[in-house]
Amino acid sequence: MRGFQDRSEVADVIGLLNSRLAALPAETIDLHLAAHRVLAADVRSEAAVPGFHRAAMDGYALRGSETFGASPYGPLELEVIGVALPGRAFAGSLGPGQAVRIMTGAPIPEGADAVLQAEAAEEADGRVRVTESVPPGRHVGRRGEDIEPGSRVLQTGRVLRPQDLGVLASIGVGRVFVVRQPTVALIVTGDELLPCGSRPEDYRIVDSNSVMLAALVCRDSGIAGVARLVPDQYDAVKSAILDADADVTMVSGGSSVGQEDPAPRVPAEVGELCVHGVALRPASPTGLGFLKGRPVFLLPGNPVSCLCAYDLFAGPAIRRLGGRSLALRYRSQTLPLARKITSAVGRVDYVRVIVNDGRVEPLAVSGASMLSTTTRADGFVLVPRDSEGAAAGESVQVYFYDEHQAACHGTGTVSRCH
Ligand code: AMP
Ligand code: MG
Repeated sequence: MRGFQDRSEVADVIGLLNSRLAALPAETIDLHLAAHRVLAADVRSEAAVPGFHRAAMDGYALRGSETFGASPYGPLELEVIGVALPGRAFAGSLGPGQAVRIMTGAPIPEGADAVLQAEAAEEADGRVRVTESVPPGRHVGRRGEDIEPGSRVLQTGRVLRPQDLGVLASIGVGRVFVVRQPTVALIVTGDELLPCGSRPEDYRIVDSNSVMLAALVCRDSGIAGVARLVPDQYDAVKSAILDADADVTMVSGGSSVGQEDPAPRVPAEVGELCVHGVALRPASPTGLGFLKGRPVFLLPGNPVSCLCAYDLFAGPAIRRLGGRSLALRYRSQTLPLARKITSAVGRVDYVRVIVNDGRVEPLAVSGASMLSTTTRADGFVLVPRDSEGAAAGESVQVYFYDEHQAACHGTGTVSRCH
């Protein structure tokens, strides 16, 4: 056994991912499956929305200029010559002294240019009394007021919101061109591991990394395959990695430099091992290789390290392949420290923290095997490589594990990573 010869810097690993990975090719899918997917081409509208001038109120379509001067003391009476309903236009055209009863969404009849609200009108014996002036254009939704024909509705790279799908439907789009979601193979190594759902017994422990990683992949819009549990043997690990037919392969465990650590040997021998050892605590035994141009992440088995290495490297890579940003996935907020954090110069520290009354309390720096520190923590702080830590009262950027939590903490600045 020997230590890592040369640890890569966190920023360099991220830089490498940035330069080596790009969005996967796009595919066309049904609109009803497209929420949260990344648009791969601009969408322009051929249609105007609405495609006709329409009533924005229930009432009476009329000629606005005729009503000037109408008041409760000098009412105007118009002849009601028909009805316009949504989808069923009034067939004729409106002449002087005439009105058409109209419902919201119905096309404005030819000859009319305004709508008198039903509440302000009185109809009797086929005539409507108008007691106020109705300027031309009043309560009329003009053709193209929502979307002009030829306009760009959504831009490449857009993460589609539910309401975007509605807008696309409104312009007649039923299928969209989106970036393909990366597939992810999960390989979990360790002779001591029992499959999820087992009870821990004797000296064996239950694999906690595969359920966690699968959920993280899903969060980052990748598609995780069923995790394969493989023993700590070079041949078994090698064939699992070579069999993995996915855009990204993640191997949990066996990523260090011990004799039981076969994972790094595989990309080193049959592909390319670019990173082995990162100046990061925990998660220093992280590796990154490429096989046939596809990334292989070697994640430490210790669950906190595994989470940290995923979030800093594998997650951003999955998001980049899916056409998203490489930035950290967590909402962050700058808040003052309740107690100091100490850190060694030369590596990034991933410090789990609790936030109480808007103040940040460090919970754990070490203890990479204790995953419950990440369930008790509200989030984490990344202490930069050149920093010795931060004093009580100093402000630090907290990344919150939960989406909603940042906004609840006092006065700090909130920023959002996409
Ligand atoms: P390794 O990275 O394989 O050297 O494992 C480091 C530590 O993490 C050891 O204590 C392992 O038992 C533990 N470990 C490895 N894989 C897992 C896993 N999938 N779930 C939980 N603990 C693990
Ligand atoms: Mg192991």
